Amino acid sequence: MASWRNWSGSVTARPAAMATPRTLPELQSLVAGATRVRVAGSGHSFMPLCETDGLLLSLSELEGEIEVADDRSTAWVPAGWPIHRLTAALWERGLSLFNQGDIDKQAIAGAVATGTHGTGASLGSISTQAAGFSLILADGSRVVCDTENEPDLFQAQRVSLGALGVMERVKLKVLPAYRLRESVRPAPLEEILSAWPDLTARHRHVEFFVFPYADTVLLKTLDPVESGDDGPPSAWLESAALQIASDLAATFPGLAPALQRFLTSAMSPATRAAPAHRIFPSERATRFEEMEHEIPAAAGADALRAGMAEVRARRWPIIFPFEYRAVAGDDIWLSPMNAGPCVSISFHQYAKMPWREAFAGMEAVFAAAGGRPHWAKRHTLTSEDVLRLYPEAPRWGAVRKQVDPGAKFLNGHLRELFAFSL
Ligand SMILES: Cc1cc2nc3c(=O)[nH]c(=O)nc-3n(C[C@H](O)[C@H](O)[C@H](O)COP(=O)(O)OP(=O)(O)OC[C@H]3O[C@@H](n4cnc5c(N)ncnc54)[C@H](O)[C@@H]3O)c2cc1C
Repeated sequence: MASWRNWSGSVTARPAAMATPRTLPELQSLVAGATRVRVAGSGHSFMPLCETDGLLLSLSELEGEIEVADDRSTAWVPAGWPIHRLTAALWERGLSLFNQGDIDKQAIAGAVATGTHGTGASLGSISTQAAGFSLILADGSRVVCDTENEPDLFQAQRVSLGALGVMERVKLKVLPAYRLRESVRPAPLEEILSAWPDLTARHRHVEFFVFPYADTVLLKTLDPVESGDDGPPSAWLESAALQIASDLAATFPGLAPALQRFLTSAMSPATRAAPAHRIFPSERATRFEEMEHEIPAAAGADALRAGMAEVRARRWPIIFPFEYRAVAGDDIWLSPMNAGPCVSISFHQYAKMPWREAFAGMEAVFAAAGGRPHWAKRHTLTSEDVLRLYPEAPRWGAVRKQVDPGAKFLNGHLRELFAFSL
């Protein structure tokens, strides 16, 4: 029996078989012939989305190329390509993605499947950039869907956790290639929270990191520039210092607050410019576990204050910072951003340290603020919660049942989440 594990090491799987098809007919026959199927992208999800005792597929070797539309506003791209391969190939063709998240290691299909997002008040998740899908359904047949052809399947597929079929190619909205200037600087937390509406209006992208035991943030803004291709990124969060502090906190948890104040004091201003796809991603060398909620924009500041107060009151030895971002609202049935503009608050813990108790406490804080969790990051939603939080979940469930009545694409976790669709 094969074995598989996710990036943080918190999810392991023992699939009956693993396969890396190279051609479309091979992929179709593998799907048609299996009883249970999951697809893994790059394994960066913290929830057991790729877990299976059936067939686990990887599309990393599937043949395919980028096809740019004549008007250059969209491109069909191979779904299994990691984002870094995709964005480099788009750049060679004079194109960029609208937005990207913190890293570019994910498969583009993995990112779309879970509503992965970056920051920017006018910018939706990567799922909002998907304009069409080529999908392999449970019987091995291929269907192409978009707003005109099979519109319900298209809408359901935009955030679907791989529960409807295997994305073979994705049609993405793209922009003419652009460069970004990154500026980072330390700033007082309350000053930045007060200025947040102004900051998000003035900058195409803005976010900050703040340790729960510190009151100074590292503010990061990205804005388009005409030229510039400067050196390496500022390495604050990727530094050896964070790794050493994390290992120290794992051995001496009581040191976490002092270590955080030390790391905060090491923050310094920096700027650089480069092609957008080289500015968006960072290295995340120190492995962590993560939860994240998308919270109505107006409730974001108080939710962060409450989260920080909870860590301090319970004296949890959290060694990683909160991350605070802006995401535009959307109209995707299962998107946590579909009720309007959101603030995204992420809560991390070093992967080698206990996280379950603190995550349970933080989930309650974020939920009380009206937050809905990122599907790929730690949460405890049940099928009843999904129905309560997502008014369009029954429509999504009807599509799921129609395209996969035998639930070939559901694993144990997805059966619990989507029991209403069985
Ligand atoms: C270090 C780190 C940084 C991160 N930064 C961000 C961030 O900035 N913003 C954010 O929103 N999230 C972020 N995430 C979360 C991450 O983007 C998601 O977990 C994403 O889904 C991972 O992509 P993946 O390719 O690793 O997919 P996996 O984790 O391998 O799979 C995710 C889902 O996609 C499905 N899937 C994959 N390929 C296909 C396919 N071809 N067809 C159908 N379904 C498919 C899988 O079945 C599964 O349900 C981060 C995670 C880590 C570990």
